[in-house]
Amino acid sequence: MKLIFASLVALLACAAFSSVALAQEGGYTAEELQRISSTKESHHFEAEVHKLMDIIINSLYSTSEIFLRELISNASDALDKLRYFAISNKDLLKDDIPLDIKIKADPEANTLTIFDTGIGMTKEELVQNLGTIARSGTMNFIKNLQNSENAGDIGQIGQFGVGFYSAFLVADRVTVHTKSPLSDKQYVWEADSQQSFSVYEDPKGNTLGRGTAIVLHLKEGEEEYLEENRLQTLVKQYSQFIDFPIYLWASHEETVEKEIDENSDEEADDSMDIEEDEESEEEELSTIVVHDWERMNNLKPIWTRKASDIEEEEYNEFFHALSKGVDDPMAYTHFKAEGDINFKALLFVPPRAPHNLLDTVDNTRDVKLYVKRVFITDDFAEVIPRYLSFLKGVIDSDDLQLNVSREMLQQTKLLKAMQKKVHDYSCISQMIFEVRAFCKWGNKFSKSWSVLLRRILSFYETKFFLMPFTRVA
Ligand code: ADP
Ligand code: MG
Repeated sequence: MKLIFASLVALLACAAFSSVALAQEGGYTAEELQRISSTKESHHFEAEVHKLMDIIINSLYSTSEIFLRELISNASDALDKLRYFAISNKDLLKDDIPLDIKIKADPEANTLTIFDTGIGMTKEELVQNLGTIARSGTMNFIKNLQNSENAGDIGQIGQFGVGFYSAFLVADRVTVHTKSPLSDKQYVWEADSQQSFSVYEDPKGNTLGRGTAIVLHLKEGEEEYLEENRLQTLVKQYSQFIDFPIYLWASHEETVEKEIDENSDEEADDSMDIEEDEESEEEELSTIVVHDWERMNNLKPIWTRKASDIEEEEYNEFFHALSKGVDDPMAYTHFKAEGDINFKALLFVPPRAPHNLLDTVDNTRDVKLYVKRVFITDDFAEVIPRYLSFLKGVIDSDDLQLNVSREMLQQTKLLKAMQKKVHDYSCISQMIFEVRAFCKWGNKFSKSWSVLLRRILSFYETKFFLMPFTRVA
């Protein structure tokens, strides 16, 4: 009996997810609905993604706010990609659309939307990236959640490369509108149930110009993400180290002269919502509430600033943003290397071993390469030796060509010089010593971390102990 009841509930839940209902709620006309059904394709979520969504949708994770960090980080990645591809293909920027991120709450529709003008996704990318292709991190993340030591720590989701799904912590429906410069049409993605999703041509056409809008239809109880003050605090917190302007649709008061012409047309203006404040005491002046895009971040990239001007707290906060976590790094080094190649580097030892650390196949590194502040790649294993692959951080050089390709990167002598500097740099050794000290004193690390560290240290010390370190900056 219980089983029948459960199945009925599940069926009803599926029905509630029905795409027609979704589309109607989206305020589509009959003609638009027609257009949706003529281009709509349904796809099954990959089994692990389905499992992941099930866990997230049903979780009562108390710090659900991390969804904003993940979506801002995806928006910033999409802008980074656009900026990078535009180096070799200027046409990508021909529309003069600024590179930015905008966040807008709509209390009436109960939605929160994150817009970016980044690279967007073609139809094929939408299908692959948001549901059908298994990512190595999906299962690792699920396992990590089930592991009693870290039980329930959904906050680490971004570290496993599946941050997008954190949207379902606060939304029971997510609609992704996206326009890639590689496609002439704008597409929509939406989950029909936890098993399947649809992709169709946006019946409203190319409204974005370029980029992506992620519309979160908030769950009951998540209304705090519609409140301006709450949003402002969160967006500021998560946008501090994002290298693109982030704007929030926010209100402020302005004092203006009272309108004399009372019959004037009250034409709706897209960029400004104006409401009269009736309590104004001035006769000729009145206070109005103006809505506008307010910039939430202003800082220069932290690694370009002088180390002596930066507080430890700022480094820690940057690390939180970089690692999509809340724990402070175990150690860090911020240096400027000069010589055959000049670059600035800010490298961190994370507080915990990365989940893929002992994975011998996975050869990725967590250090991002920038050239003249433009993100180029985070896949340049050549610079960071394997035994230091746990380092996270940023290397930025003015000496490489902006249009440097991966192949060129591998061949360029400068890169070899860069690798040597990272090797030689005494701060790295200093960091390793600090880590060892932490391990001895704190004894607070998981087994794998300390085993690995011992391995690194023995390798590091035998190979480099006698090597003369040269301080370059
Ligand atoms: P990750 O960001 O670690 O790759 P996510 O689950 O956050 O993992 O995102 C999955 C993928 O979906 C991204 O790698 C990217 O290809 C795509 N994606 C997500 N958000 C956007 C966006 N705003 N613009 C373009 N592509 C996006
Ligand atoms: Mg992400």
